[in-house]
Amino acid sequence: MAVAANLAQYRLYIGGEDVDAASGETFEALNPTTGEVWATHALAGAEDVARAVRAARAAFDDEAWRGLSPTRRGRLMMRWADRIGERAEEIARIEVSDNGKLYKEMLAQLRVIPEWLYYFGGLADKVEGRVIPLDNTSVLNYTLREPLGVVGIIVPWNSPVLLTMYALAPALAAGNAVVVKPSEHAAASVLETLRLADEAGFPPGVLNVVTGAGEAGAALVDDPGVAKISFTGSEATGKVIAARAGSRLAPVTLELGGKSPNIVFADAALDAAEAGLLAGIFAASGQSCVAGSRALLQRDVYEELLERVRQRTASIVLGDPLDGGTQMGPIANPAQLERVETMVEAACGEGARVLAGGERAALDRFPAGLFYEPTILYGVGNDARIAQDEVFGPVLTVLPFETEDEAAAIANATRFGLAAGVWTRDVKRAHRMARRLRAGTVWINTYRAITFNSPFGGYKESGFGRVNGAEAIDGFLQTKSVWTELSEDVQDPFVMKI
Ligand code: NAD
Repeated sequence: MAVAANLAQYRLYIGGEDVDAASGETFEALNPTTGEVWATHALAGAEDVARAVRAARAAFDDEAWRGLSPTRRGRLMMRWADRIGERAEEIARIEVSDNGKLYKEMLAQLRVIPEWLYYFGGLADKVEGRVIPLDNTSVLNYTLREPLGVVGIIVPWNSPVLLTMYALAPALAAGNAVVVKPSEHAAASVLETLRLADEAGFPPGVLNVVTGAGEAGAALVDDPGVAKISFTGSEATGKVIAARAGSRLAPVTLELGGKSPNIVFADAALDAAEAGLLAGIFAASGQSCVAGSRALLQRDVYEELLERVRQRTASIVLGDPLDGGTQMGPIANPAQLERVETMVEAACGEGARVLAGGERAALDRFPAGLFYEPTILYGVGNDARIAQDEVFGPVLTVLPFETEDEAAAIANATRFGLAAGVWTRDVKRAHRMARRLRAGTVWINTYRAITFNSPFGGYKESGFGRVNGAEAIDGFLQTKSVWTELSEDVQDPFVMKI
């Protein structure tokens, strides 16, 4: 494999220092646009993960963190946010090198990421207990809401820093220390961002990053020093992690995949719906957990919309994700490209017909780039594997429907429940559908909108627990009940009258 001339070299970030893996081993990061190795990382083993957990635990127990008032902790988070904002362009470029997503999308993400730290930093001193009005009026009973300890955060490659921040911002606001295990396919931007916390004045060890593949993640899940795991990734890995964490009774939050329906009724504003269908699936080359990968089109507009979407798809510009004019970049890594290819071939074997794309794309400028054509499949039912399994690539499966009941039934006939889109001008229908759809997010006449103060997460096998929004902090706190007898009229159980 070709290696870039200015190869970047990253190390683990443990206890506020950049360190090599104990084994001295490294692994390579591939740029999916050029096909070149652009960076190397230290390959963390179980020993390194244990070291990071120990560093986090020491920081958690240290007065420098534990003794910081929630208001000061929040201010620290805000100072870190400022640093990230100043470096947004640089970090966004690093993400593009790793996952090939469009620079304009990564930059927009990096510019909004500080909001998570401002919002949750502001929430840090609003975590309050309650006074419980007990039947026994001589007892003062109140609750304390306390951090869990060390939180392990495991994230995928598609939006590395943003997805880390979904868990990290509420975990820190609650007063925990963390160890992050980014994806082996996109670790550099997470390292760069977390190291900035040092500059902002975070005590060493509150934030740690271990890089490596599934083995490093598994070591984090199994470490008895980790009080909770927050996982974002595929349903398959999520199930393994939930079982392993369950075996030592460690709680988990799971943000998993989806097969989200994007439903267009005949009364919709069709120009908007067309844009929503396209952006829903082809933004980020379909490598988005909320990708609208099933288009449900009402029969009266089925032919018209299909033709409109086909024409637009045929003109999507594939190319360098750093170019402003590029509309779709590559697939992020060779395994993912192979998955897309295999699933489209299998769908065709099951009777799916190709309306657009359906193959790898060859670009003269990037002969070793991992490009796949934006693809539309039709002619299969909702029970076909291509309509049930997550592709995590630029592949749209189109399904017709006649009535609102049928749309809801098809939309819900999936094991996933991450998100859904509804396009209609009928406000009553819109809200009827919002209640009927079994998904953690429903978008009406829009798609793929997510922000720091609105809850996000999955129904069914798309996961459990919520990130974003004030309730996200609850997942990183535990409640203690404190009882104080205010009288000296102590009941002696051995002389109690019946
Ligand atoms: P993945 O499950 O393969 O990997 C995710 C992370 O888990 C990586 O860091 C990986 O190294 C680690 N890992 C792998 N095996 C492990 C194990 N046995 N124990 C512990 N850690 C392990 O997912 P991916 O391919 O990186 O990402 C794509 C998936 O992520 C898609 O399914 C997508 O829908 C999902 N996703 C979900 C959300 C959400 O918020 N719901 C957001 C983005 C992506």
